[in-house]
Amino acid sequence: MLQYQDTPLIELQDDIIRAAGIRLLIKREDQNHPSVSGNKWWKLKYNLDEAIRSGHHTLLTFGGAYSNHIYAVAAAAHELGLKSIGIIRGEENLPRNHTLAFARDHGMILQYISRELYRQKNDDAFITKLHDQFGGFYLLPEGGTNDLALKGCSEFATQIKAQSEFDYLCLPVGTGGTMAGMIAGLKGGHNIIGFSVLKNGTYLQEEVSGLLKNFSPPAYANWQIEMEYHFGGYAKKTRALDDFISFMWGKHHLPLEPVYTGKMMFGVYDMMLKGRFNASSTVMILHTGGLQGQTSLSE
Ligand SMILES: *Cc1c(COP(=O)(O)O)cnc(C)c1O
Repeated sequence: MLQYQDTPLIELQDDIIRAAGIRLLIKREDQNHPSVSGNKWWKLKYNLDEAIRSGHHTLLTFGGAYSNHIYAVAAAAHELGLKSIGIIRGEENLPRNHTLAFARDHGMILQYISRELYRQKNDDAFITKLHDQFGGFYLLPEGGTNDLALKGCSEFATQIKAQSEFDYLCLPVGTGGTMAGMIAGLKGGHNIIGFSVLKNGTYLQEEVSGLLKNFSPPAYANWQIEMEYHFGGYAKKTRALDDFISFMWGKHHLPLEPVYTGKMMFGVYDMMLKGRFNASSTVMILHTGGLQGQTSLSE
């Protein structure tokens, strides 16, 4: 099994939080592992168990050039003595950015494919071709989202619940796998607020419902996805977002990045300013990690 480091729960205090009349807690899950950090650790946990149990020696997965998932899979495979293959969207660019250089240094074979071909990543015929090329492998979908990922995230939800009481749980949403797992793990309790990092994220509502239906049948209604904090779309950012991230670092020494956690946290602060959290409630923020991406994006 992967190493795991227990992570702290910290409380932030500033004028905006005081004015909102709430408690703001942050679960620093970004610190759970040096390179398989945050939600990616939990999404991989049971997939890695299953890959090994079923006798696989190789992991294969998909991602973009800055993908935290690619980075995490390369590190996890390296730690467990597995081989890894990353099918990367788009053309090869040299020198490699931090994410892909790290993946390569941890033994990942990188294969670049066109954006067109990349769209076939879930098609059986395409996967068969990859098997013809690479032989046997354990397949992890893009972003690592599958039932075993939900199982890991739901276990994480149980762990947080045991650590503290809270009313709201806030987290960023990419594929929706982490959010679906958290909803399942909280079993209808609490109010779960996801922040879409995608511009056209309305389909995520259905996506999360669908993932949940597969994994854990009760149809919970205690969750919503905020669509107003994508800052132009996936991996897009603005001056206001950068300024906010700098502010949070200066004020609270809280490291955030612009792809996921910065957008969520901006959303949380905006919602506090708009009085959208019930007074006297406790808001739990999930720091899902992803800080490695910062290095690549600033290159
Ligand atoms: C991958 C990732 C997410 C998104 O998780 P999903 O399960 O795809 O919704 C959120 N935050 C960080 C830091 C990530 O790396």
